Amino acid sequence: MSNTDQVQRILFDNVDVRGVVTALQSSFQEVMAGHSYPPVIENILGEMLAAVTILSTNLKFNGKLILQAKGQGSVSTLMAECNHRNECRAFAQFDEGIPGQLSFKEMLDKGHLVLTIEPDVGRRYQGYVPLEQESLALCLEEYFQRSEQLATKFILACDGQKARGIMLQVLPAMQSGTDDWQRLALLTQTLSAAELLALDNETLLYRLFHEEQCRLFTPEQIEFKCQCSRQRSEKALTLLDAAELREIIEERGSIDMGCQICNSNYSFDAVDVEAICRDKEARKSGQVQ
Ligand SMILES: [Zn+2]
Repeated sequence: MSNTDQVQRILFDNVDVRGVVTALQSSFQEVMAGHSYPPVIENILGEMLAAVTILSTNLKFNGKLILQAKGQGSVSTLMAECNHRNECRAFAQFDEGIPGQLSFKEMLDKGHLVLTIEPDVGRRYQGYVPLEQESLALCLEEYFQRSEQLATKFILACDGQKARGIMLQVLPAMQSGTDDWQRLALLTQTLSAAELLALDNETLLYRLFHEEQCRLFTPEQIEFKCQCSRQRSEKALTLLDAAELREIIEERGSIDMGCQICNSNYSFDAVDVEAICRDKEARKSGQVQ
């Protein structure tokens, strides 16, 4: 398949429907690296990643889109995010003894799906939908129907090596009940997960929409990039009291700040921590004066 680690918009002439198709391979594998997730988790995280890379193409500002599924089943949290630069990351929290075979509903029992749009500057927007459908794709369709009254069709798939997704959505100008939408949604529905995983975008477009007038936009590259940094970890440490920080150093010799998403570790030794404490104290006395 030639469209790896790319997201590509589909333009329909004469129909108010937008389309996006995505393919993650190296980026998906990098997200999974170092986590030893069981296949059942890899597959659902792959679908989450495919979904966020599709949805973030609609960001109209610098910022990120975060999709979270939280439940009371064997999986407590699934998170995937993608920013306006198409940098994505994801992680999962789940029970140790999670069964090898698990339906989406069993995985996230009594759960809900939260979609957060977080601009770099300004207020964030959050919406949610209960996880009552049989798949992530169906939950997302329900989310857009309920929250934005936009008819949407998602097909998502992951085989442990790559993640693929396609979305069609009516533009706000169009009535979702029109014949054009019904026809395009039905055509999309005929696509199996196996086909989605096997076909490149051009072939996929021909397979689904050869009787429609549509084109693919220039593809955009997707990459895995965690947003954690030593600087951010240091900022988090400054939120603790100086006395508390010195106490930890006294006990353990250093403070390790691990990123649960990419497994990076940022270590702060006695010298680093003392510098943070002095800086805190200097600011504090500056404020008092
Ligand atoms: Zn990280």
